[in-house]
Amino acid sequence: MVLDKDTMGAQVLSFEFFPPATSEGRTKWMSTYQQLRQFKPEFFSVTYGAGGSTRDRTYELVSTIQKEGDRAAPHLSCVGSTQESIRAILDEYRQQNIRHIVALRGDLPSGMADPGELRYASELVEFIRKETGDWFHIEVAAYPEYHPQAQSAQKDLLHFKEKVNAGANTAITQYFYNIDAYWSFCDSAASLGVNIPIIPGIMPISSFSKLCRFSDACGAEIPRWIRKKMESFGDDAVSIRAFGLDVVTHLCDQLLTGGAPGLHFYTLNQASLTSVIWQRLGLS
Ligand code: FAD
Repeated sequence: MVLDKDTMGAQVLSFEFFPPATSEGRTKWMSTYQQLRQFKPEFFSVTYGAGGSTRDRTYELVSTIQKEGDRAAPHLSCVGSTQESIRAILDEYRQQNIRHIVALRGDLPSGMADPGELRYASELVEFIRKETGDWFHIEVAAYPEYHPQAQSAQKDLLHFKEKVNAGANTAITQYFYNIDAYWSFCDSAASLGVNIPIIPGIMPISSFSKLCRFSDACGAEIPRWIRKKMESFGDDAVSIRAFGLDVVTHLCDQLLTGGAPGLHFYTLNQASLTSVIWQRLGLS
């Protein structure tokens, strides 16, 4: 079964987790998962450490989610991997009846020199289709503000199109706070003949310093007015949280009203901010 907009409903809502490294983290994750599953999202995705560093932990979380009766979508990155190891992971997922996957290139972990046998996410998508036909609904990544390593905006768009041509069903974006970047990216993709749903990735704001760190690494811009306002709060965590909730809820509202095909929340394994935004949007 391949999901499409008809089977997934008009607007797809999903949550992302990362696999915790400690038993305390695992316990906290379970509590977050139990809170968020009450909102009945379409699926929960689980990240994957590039180079396979979280292979077992990603698998474990995904199995737990499936066993609870929810739809799980493991992320899978190809950088630093062999085709044989990716084939083995795909087989494991098929045995678990997992039918949804987020296919990524990933970033080569420091100290790892070999980029592996598949160089780009488009090659991974092609490989998954060759090995497993239509078994998986394949998500790929999209970058409304363009990927930090992109040679140019136009080349990045063309590489995005290659992932779609290789067989991706839907895309999830890097998070952004400039809504115009998202609409512009969707328009540019459509003008190239790309018409899969491009679902906005949403990053709730819990801490300004964390947000700056993430954004520096992934190339997502924090608009000046948000940066200035956050800076003015200093260590006042309550004001940062309240302002962040207003900004992100407004962004989600504008996206849904404007016709975005859904929202994918980067929960960072925390339930509270995502729950408040979800409730304020009236999604429950
Ligand atoms: P690609 O689509 O392969 O693109 C990477 C870069 O290569 C781009 O600059 C593109 O323009 C360029 N490119 C593509 N094809 C070609 C070509 N043929 N020739 C030349 N250049 C080309 N990382 C993880 O490690 N684990 C995760 O679980 C994870 N989950 C993510 C989920 C989402 C929704 C997103 C948006 C990102 C996620 N990431 C994750 C981060 C991601 O792995 C990095 O952004 C990575 O740098 C790029 O992965 P990609 O799949 O977008 O790569």
